[in-house]
Amino acid sequence: MTDGQVLPGEGGSAGYGRVASEGVDTSHGPILYLEDITVSFDGFRALNKLTLTIDEGELRCIIGPNGAGKTTMMDVITGKTRADAGSVFFGQSIDLSRLSEAQIAQAGIGRKFQKPTVFENHTVFENLELAMKTDKTVRASLQAKLGAQQLERIGRTLDLIQLSEQAGKMAGLLSHGQKQWLEIGMLLMQEPKLVLLDEPVAGMTDEETERTADLLKNLAGEHSVVVVEHDMEFIARIANIVTVLHEGSVLAEGTLDQLKANERVIEVYLGR
Ligand code: ADP
Ligand code: MG
Repeated sequence: MTDGQVLPGEGGSAGYGRVASEGVDTSHGPILYLEDITVSFDGFRALNKLTLTIDEGELRCIIGPNGAGKTTMMDVITGKTRADAGSVFFGQSIDLSRLSEAQIAQAGIGRKFQKPTVFENHTVFENLELAMKTDKTVRASLQAKLGAQQLERIGRTLDLIQLSEQAGKMAGLLSHGQKQWLEIGMLLMQEPKLVLLDEPVAGMTDEETERTADLLKNLAGEHSVVVVEHDMEFIARIANIVTVLHEGSVLAEGTLDQLKANERVIEVYLGR
């Protein structure tokens, strides 16, 4: 490993700063690689030798019962929780265990939490604009002039999250589902290579859930996406490869059809 590759995005600010993710080397395979990750809380193993590989451009679904370790896995990837053992690599050469949460975001890993954290008193457009800016003070960001390229990026993101018609609307007036899409859009303005979504359709209507499925399918390819979700209809809409976590390890991995025929998966998660 060369130290020069550890901090590819150095120079911008953390959080909503711009991300230079070109430093991620995926030329020899996966974008994310977890090997034998163990996390213990007071002796209880939330993750138990978890090994998982995500390919570049992939849309991977993670399912599993409550307490299986899904959120803890995302915490380890984003640096919120440190593994007691095992390794976690972003591309070939970025050892995430050596980076802070801010540096991991900077390196090109974006995470969306369940509760939307949009700026309610700003428009949809301004929210995307703020997400793109390095200077995090709202006033400084909104006073800076946008370049043509930046305007185009905001426009493309508005299309992708299907909020073009709401661009001038205050974010606080959006529906729950629309706020979630806006937050995904804000994440995308940072140009992450890998996007982590924990239960993105929780609380959404059926129609919003369907539209979120379309959105995520459109993200894959350009981004690698890892989605944790309980909604099996949603999973069925977007799934290629699905990983089942159970007691902190991978119980099974495969297409949804393969998993539906797997006795162990039926027993611990899908039910009869
Ligand atoms: P999931 O997201 O699959 O429902 P979690 O990763 O949230 O599961 O939790 C896995 C297990 O680890 C659970 O038993 C949970 O209670 C435990 N756990 C998670 N975070 C902590 C923590 N900070 N302290 C103690 N136990 C935790
Ligand atoms: Mg969870």
